[in-house]
Amino acid sequence: MTREIHIIGGGLAGSEAAWQLAEAGVRVRLSELRGSGEMTAAHQTDSLAELVCSNSFRSDDAESNAVGLLHAEMRALGSLIMAAADANRVPAGSALAVDREGYAAAVTARLAAHPNVEIVRERVDALPASGLAIVATGPLTAARLAESIGAATGADALAFFDAIAPIVHHDSIDMDICWMASRWDKGDTKDYINCPMTKAQYLAFRQGLLDGDKTEFKQWEKDTPYFEGCMPIDVAAARGEDTLRYGPMKPVGLDDPKTGRWPHAVVQLRQDNALGTLWNMVGFQTKLKHAEQVRLFRTIPGLAGAEFARLGGLHRNTFINSPQLLDATLRLKSVPHIRFAGQITGCEGYVESAAIGMLAGRFAAAELRGEAPAPPPLTTALGALLGHITGGADAATYQPMNVNFGLFPPIDGRMKKGDRKKAYTERAKADLLAWRDALRS
Ligand SMILES: Cc1cc2nc3c(=O)[nH]c(=O)nc-3n(C[C@H](O)[C@H](O)[C@H](O)COP(=O)(O)OP(=O)(O)OC[C@H]3O[C@@H](n4cnc5c(N)ncnc54)[C@H](O)[C@@H]3O)c2cc1C
Repeated sequence: MTREIHIIGGGLAGSEAAWQLAEAGVRVRLSELRGSGEMTAAHQTDSLAELVCSNSFRSDDAESNAVGLLHAEMRALGSLIMAAADANRVPAGSALAVDREGYAAAVTARLAAHPNVEIVRERVDALPASGLAIVATGPLTAARLAESIGAATGADALAFFDAIAPIVHHDSIDMDICWMASRWDKGDTKDYINCPMTKAQYLAFRQGLLDGDKTEFKQWEKDTPYFEGCMPIDVAAARGEDTLRYGPMKPVGLDDPKTGRWPHAVVQLRQDNALGTLWNMVGFQTKLKHAEQVRLFRTIPGLAGAEFARLGGLHRNTFINSPQLLDATLRLKSVPHIRFAGQITGCEGYVESAAIGMLAGRFAAAELRGEAPAPPPLTTALGALLGHITGGADAATYQPMNVNFGLFPPIDGRMKKGDRKKAYTERAKADLLAWRDALRS
């Protein structure tokens, strides 16, 4: 195969996509702005696939952890990022942590040495008008390219900030305490889970929001304003004793079936994925530190045993509304010669970004061979993450997400929590190998 593909952005996703294509015999032009005299606000070096913050790829436990399973699946498909991470591993218990310089140097050297890869240090300012391309410019996409993406996708479908509300696994919510109703009891469908609070519980909870440890905005994040609609719950709490009761915790019209009366306040959760396994705490975006969120949110009636698929946060983060914009193989529906990959698609994390880069590269290679690219099964970590991004997630509330077992089709039947996780990973491993081997034959 001699066709060329243009990859924009040499981060985790772009580097993995380039490797997959190059190994499939496709010539790659990899454009990376670092090294051209420019730098993003978070990167420090010119190395490809630089880790901008922690040196951890998180859990490497492929038996009972979703990101560990994703590691294993990527290794099984010949991932460059995983190979470089494994070769530069440093001790970190069951986590995969790396010597960041050795790891990034290994990725850069292997791509630079590949005969099918041309690395060009340049900033790209517009989506290519023709030719197959993969956009993998990440959460800090340079401004002009972001404008071009906004023009192609519609400004409403491109976000510059994430305002993340926590997400709870449905099976960890105590439905003996909570009940289903419509939002503020308007409409016919009972779509919301309601957690009732007495006045004493509400006041203690508000105080917890005020007193809790918060993460600070970085200097370069301070310049990116958030909309009133995305105001952190802790900021709203500070505005007055009852501000939350007139906002996200409004109890109006919500008769608690146990008392027949409105509670003093409610916390509402709304279904967040098509499978109904994940529920979003409506309006609970917050800058509280993660440990503080777990402690405080478990004081909410009905959430004492809550398991969180995602905790809240607010960061600068450029990402598109993928469930609305992308097809099942990451192509922009309106401009199908362009694929998106990495954090800009709304996945979250180093490993997830590289994983989506891997799939974008493999899909593009299949397309160039004249084949219809086959997404991995939804029962695998790769397939579950991809399925969430490309349609499983609710487009109206779409926010970045790590891989987690809540994205997988549930396995029915009663099981202990540990056994259930093992059942997910065993099913995933078998299904991934069957998918990979079917593509080879
Ligand atoms: C400050 C910060 C800290 C983070 N910390 C963590 C963490 O600790 N752990 C974790 O798992 N995840 C973390 N993330 C989230 C995410 O995993 C990383 O951002 C990850 O690097 C995303 O991979 P990516 O390939 O999508 O983007 P990136 O790795 O950012 O790669 C995008 C590349 O595109 C280049 N680029 C941008 N615009 C252009 C352009 N116009 N032309 C050419 N090149 C361009 C950039 O220079 C960059 O090299 C963090 C994110 C941020 C912003």
